[in-house]
Amino acid sequence: MDEKLVADIRERYQRVLERIEAAAQRAGRDPRSVRLVVVTKAQPLEVVRAALKAGVRILGENYAEEAVEKINSLKDEFVVEWHMIGHVQSRKAALVAAHFDLLHSLDSLKLARRLDAFCAQAGRVLPAMLEFNVGGEESKFGFPAWDEKAWPSLLPEVEAILQLSHLRLRGLMTMPPLFDQPEQSRPYFQRLRRLQEFLAQRFPQADWSELSMGTSLDYETAIQEGATFVRIGTAIVGSRPSH
Ligand SMILES: *Cc1c(COP(=O)(O)O)cnc(C)c1O
Repeated sequence: MDEKLVADIRERYQRVLERIEAAAQRAGRDPRSVRLVVVTKAQPLEVVRAALKAGVRILGENYAEEAVEKINSLKDEFVVEWHMIGHVQSRKAALVAAHFDLLHSLDSLKLARRLDAFCAQAGRVLPAMLEFNVGGEESKFGFPAWDEKAWPSLLPEVEAILQLSHLRLRGLMTMPPLFDQPEQSRPYFQRLRRLQEFLAQRFPQADWSELSMGTSLDYETAIQEGATFVRIGTAIVGSRPSH
C-alpha cells in the first residue's frame, strides 16, 4: 500500500469536507444534509483502496462491469456504499440491480422496468434518482428537461416509474454542461430545483428530497442551490488515467 497516496487523498478529502461544511453553513443549511460521493470511475483498484483507507465510505462509479470488479475485490476488507452515477445500458441492468446501493442516473422508463424486474427476482428494492438533462446538450443522458414549458410531457413516464414496486424514487440528478466558472452552472442547478418542486406538486406521495448535483468544479454552487449529494472525483483522487 502506497502510504503517500493514502495521505494525499486523506488531505484532499478532509479539505473538500471542510469546504462542503462551510458552503452549507453559508447557505444556512445543516452540513449533514449534504453527502459526499467520491467518484472513482476509471481509477485503478489501488486508488480506490487508498481512498477507503483514507476514510471515504461512499463511492461513485460510472461503468457497471468495472465497478463490480472493484466491489468484489474490496467487499471483504471494507464496508462501502456503492453508488452508480453513470448511464446504465439495458444489458447492464442486472449488474446494477445486484450490486449497487443507490442509482443516481435512472434515465428511461425502459431501464426502470428492467431494473424493477431484476430487483423483484432478487427480492430487493433499489433506491434511485431520476436523471434530467437540464442543459439540452445532445451528448448528455437524462430525461429532456431544458424546456420548462415541456415539463408536463415528462409526467406520464414519471408516473409509470413510480408504480414500479422494486424501485424507490428518492429525488433528481443532473450533470450540467461543463464550464470553467462554477457560477455558470448555477442556472442549471436552479432549474433542477424548480423541477423538483414541480414533481413534488404533481406527485406529493413520492419522495423527491434528494438533489444530486455538483462536481469538483462547482460543488459549492450546487450546495448553495440545494444539493444533497455532491459527486467529486478529481479534486479528491486526482485526474483519471487516460485509456
Ligand atoms: C466523472 C463524474 C463526476 C465527477 O467529476 P469530477 O470532475 O472528477 O469531480 C460526477 N458526476 C458524474 C456523473 C461523473 O461522470
